[in-house]
Amino acid sequence: MMRVNQDRLWNSLMEMAKIGATSKGGSSRLALSKEDKAGRELFVSWCEALGMEIHRDPIGNLFAIYPGNNRLAAPIVMGSHLDTQPKGGRFDGVYGVLAALEVVRTLHENDVKLNHDLEIAVWMNEEGARFSPAMLGSEVFIGELSLEKALGIEDVNGISVGSELEAIGEAGTSEFKRHLDSYFELHIEQGPILEDLNKEIGVVTGGQAIAWLDVEMQGRAQHAGTTPMRYRKDAMLGVSAFLLEIEGYVAAIDDALLTIGEINIPFSSRNTIAGTVNFTLDIRHPETEKVKEMVAKVKEMAKEVAAKRALEVSLTDVWLSPAIPFDESCVNLVRSAVKELGFSNIEMISGAGHDAIHLAKHCPTTMIFIACKDGISHNEAESITEIDAANGTNVLLHAVMKRDQM
Ligand SMILES: [Zn+2]
Repeated sequence: MMRVNQDRLWNSLMEMAKIGATSKGGSSRLALSKEDKAGRELFVSWCEALGMEIHRDPIGNLFAIYPGNNRLAAPIVMGSHLDTQPKGGRFDGVYGVLAALEVVRTLHENDVKLNHDLEIAVWMNEEGARFSPAMLGSEVFIGELSLEKALGIEDVNGISVGSELEAIGEAGTSEFKRHLDSYFELHIEQGPILEDLNKEIGVVTGGQAIAWLDVEMQGRAQHAGTTPMRYRKDAMLGVSAFLLEIEGYVAAIDDALLTIGEINIPFSSRNTIAGTVNFTLDIRHPETEKVKEMVAKVKEMAKEVAAKRALEVSLTDVWLSPAIPFDESCVNLVRSAVKELGFSNIEMISGAGHDAIHLAKHCPTTMIFIACKDGISHNEAESITEIDAANGTNVLLHAVMKRDQM
């Protein structure tokens, strides 16, 4: 079986990491910054050395094409992103792009041309660190966000996507929503599971469903020194009781996740009993129906806890994002590549957002994960092994070659 060149892949990763290098060994290339531009230029120079064609679309997504035998067939696309968090790691996104490049380099040196064009996509502003929302470029590409709206989005300094695209010359004319045969994204896991289970490859079957709720618990603000415990309507203690109860409920459901990320006591004071507490709930599970069931149950539990303590509670639905299953035929290609290469693996769901989640609404899509040290990501300390990097890239190579034969 054809194999990628592990050293060449690693050297390219280390070369890219020098652009915007941070003091603690990470990278800083915010979307459309001069560092991002320099990273894109380095990538383009590597692609042009392979005779690839370079295109850009009006939102600054960058595409490098390795021409196939049948130029009329829709392209097979691999990709990810080159932008980073302000103090990001060397592998989040970058790995998926440079692994795709290593796939093309391997085909090129073996004189192998596919039937389809093989394309590498570099999606603009995946991180959402400079411009919100995250995964902006792929969202515009699939037509879920208008170009006009996206160009008007500003960073904290009031600089818009549109003006910055013009300043660094990264806008082009490639068409949105064009027909793609398929999309494969290789990424670091950004969580601890693969390392913990000592598995080489994560076969990703989809993205999970997410529900966001706003909760307000109301009691009565009173003096901390004069109100005996039995007379109190303490919203904070009501919230505490509720949260411990739902933690127990969610922990008993396989693959369910619960996060309280924001909590606020309006007019808080250390010698006043909390009259009102506001907080957020983030509930996730691979199945949309299960998330809906959990939301309903959590609402019921909130009312029970509040009633027991003579408190009032209101829960507001903020957002429900359904689960996104990846394309079964693409997942199967990854499964069979993993099997032929003899890698240990598990099937998993993507916990984080990725461009692939958008692309899955547009064309047959899947993802491949490799382990990252201690599950740490969005951090300068992000780390992967050279062998894992090569293993994931070999899976990507053989999955797209199998796709080409379909
Ligand atoms: Zn990423």
